[in-house]
Amino acid sequence: MTPRELIRLTAQQFRNSGIPDPENDAALLLAHLTGRPVLELRLDTDTHPDPAVLSAYQVLAEKRMNRIPLQYLLGEAPFCSRLFKVDSRVLIPRPETELLCEWALDVIRDIPVPRVLDLCCGSGCIGLTVKADRPDACVTLSDLSEDALNVTAVNAVRLSLDVSVCRSDLLDGLSGSSFDLIVSNPPYIPSSVCDHLQPEVMKEPRLALDGGPDGCSLYRRIIEKAPSVLVPGGKLMLEIGFNEAECLSALLAQKGFRHIEIRKDYSGIERMILAVLP
Ligand code: GLN
Repeated sequence: MTPRELIRLTAQQFRNSGIPDPENDAALLLAHLTGRPVLELRLDTDTHPDPAVLSAYQVLAEKRMNRIPLQYLLGEAPFCSRLFKVDSRVLIPRPETELLCEWALDVIRDIPVPRVLDLCCGSGCIGLTVKADRPDACVTLSDLSEDALNVTAVNAVRLSLDVSVCRSDLLDGLSGSSFDLIVSNPPYIPSSVCDHLQPEVMKEPRLALDGGPDGCSLYRRIIEKAPSVLVPGGKLMLEIGFNEAECLSALLAQKGFRHIEIRKDYSGIERMILAVLP
């Protein structure tokens, strides 16, 4: 079977399994195994992949039909024009989070040698992007999950970035530090919703998704402690879930934060919030 036929046949199977982007996934998995560009494979009606490639491809296709996320099968995901290693130990970086990261870089633009904390770092995509774009920054990345931190550390090495990685239950393990900016994409999906997500999302770590009964449990703990680890005038920036902006603005204002600003994502949903400590 030629690559073109193989991709078509597999895409048909993916479509029957309800996979959202069947052609793309079928082609990318073959590209991953052969090291050949997607377009070339799609047009290739001459060659015949060798049996080892075919059987490896069958294994990956089977996993994909069991709704393992494509990025876990490829072993990496793009974020702010860099590739990050990902597997089932970490959340897959999302395009919305790129907006958060760009905003974070904007906020520290005029601060020389900014001290930045990426809280709930997962793959490390936010903190490592900040460090890559601002080599003078002192970046700390923390997460509760030891498993996730191992992935963060691998990504730091892969990107040759010198950052501190530490295990902490939110801000509990960070007392005594002081940051110019805390940026965080913590788990924020209400627990009841976590049981009914898209099959692929249910393969991601529950710990990275579940934000407690109303989705805001972690934000409450973060906002409570943040003033003690921020410099005066320090900023807290959070990615937020659907309909959470109002509740969070109130919480932040109550804790003394000022200049609260909310921004939307590509779908027009209020997705991130920035607040400044007086
Ligand atoms: N900071 C990581 C990301 O944005 C992980 C977020 C998480 O685990 N909730 O993808």
